[in-house]
Amino acid sequence: DTIAAIMMNLDQRKIEKFRGSELFPKELESKLTYDNLREVLMEYLNDDEEALDYAQSMSTKVLKNCYENNKKSMHYEFIKIWHDSGKKQWIELELFLRKRPETGDVIAIGYLKDIDERVREKARLEEMTHQDQMTGLYHHEYTMNAIKNYLRGEGREGIHALMMIDLDDFKKINDTYGHIIGDKVIVEMAKRLKILFRKTDIIGRFGGDEFVVLMKNVGTMERIEMKAEQLREQLLLEVESDEGPLRFTSCIGISICEDADKTYREMIEEADREMYKMKKSGKNNYSICGKDC
Ligand code: GH3
Ligand code: MG
Repeated sequence: DTIAAIMMNLDQRKIEKFRGSELFPKELESKLTYDNLREVLMEYLNDDEEALDYAQSMSTKVLKNCYENNKKSMHYEFIKIWHDSGKKQWIELELFLRKRPETGDVIAIGYLKDIDERVREKARLEEMTHQDQMTGLYHHEYTMNAIKNYLRGEGREGIHALMMIDLDDFKKINDTYGHIIGDKVIVEMAKRLKILFRKTDIIGRFGGDEFVVLMKNVGTMERIEMKAEQLREQLLLEVESDEGPLRFTSCIGISICEDADKTYREMIEEADREMYKMKKSGKNNYSICGKDC
């Protein structure tokens, strides 16, 4: 799985060894010298901005500094897009720094590897372990981390709505019709949520009959209100039982943030508080906590 291996002498500014597999473009290999190494590498990487930045930052000086500061190995993963086929492939760049005892020269040994299968397999496994088994939604911990990371990162700007949704009188359903019907209601609820929200929104089962959704970039207050009303209507669930169709309702508490003016914790607490207001005032309803609550 090695695409290229290189041994460089940083003090002599020389490539001592280079071996490229059939994946590494032959015409680039033939152009390769120590001084144009970065340019050649960048030609090879020329689709991934982050990888380019990284390659650009790796000068002799930087690498020797790393060695002096005891940072003797570096590791970087990025996506390479092949020009001819358009195929995307995960690549790893590993770099090791050593001192040659006889001469005292600092040597850098680099490997460019194809790690596509490994990364994809890991993503598949992660996807599986992030899931709540019963509904296929994200489980509590993953939902929490995904929302936190989004709010701190990409979602620092914009208006986002956190919704907390809890089935009404679910204990009664279990007690009256049994757990199998209860489970069916939860699965049905999850199905509706998946249909109602965008693929990019974060939808999780927080536990029991409680669900949390982060709607990203919701736009205006009116849009949020419309969505909440739609949600309430769509969550008037009907599940078949031996005794005929059973109907269920939910309460929804909503917290809004704009340009990171609230933390994850604050949003969860607000949404929870709004939801419980609705539980106390007759159920089957939603409540939004905007800026002034
Ligand atoms: P409220 O309207 O105030 O929400 O009342 P509730 O009865 O729904 O009370 P609460 O939300 O506190 O309780 C949820 C109940 O859901 C508790 C538990 O018996 C039941 N439950 C939790 N997880 C499951 C599950 O996986 N399957 C089934 N069938 N029931 C569950
Ligand atoms: Mg409940």
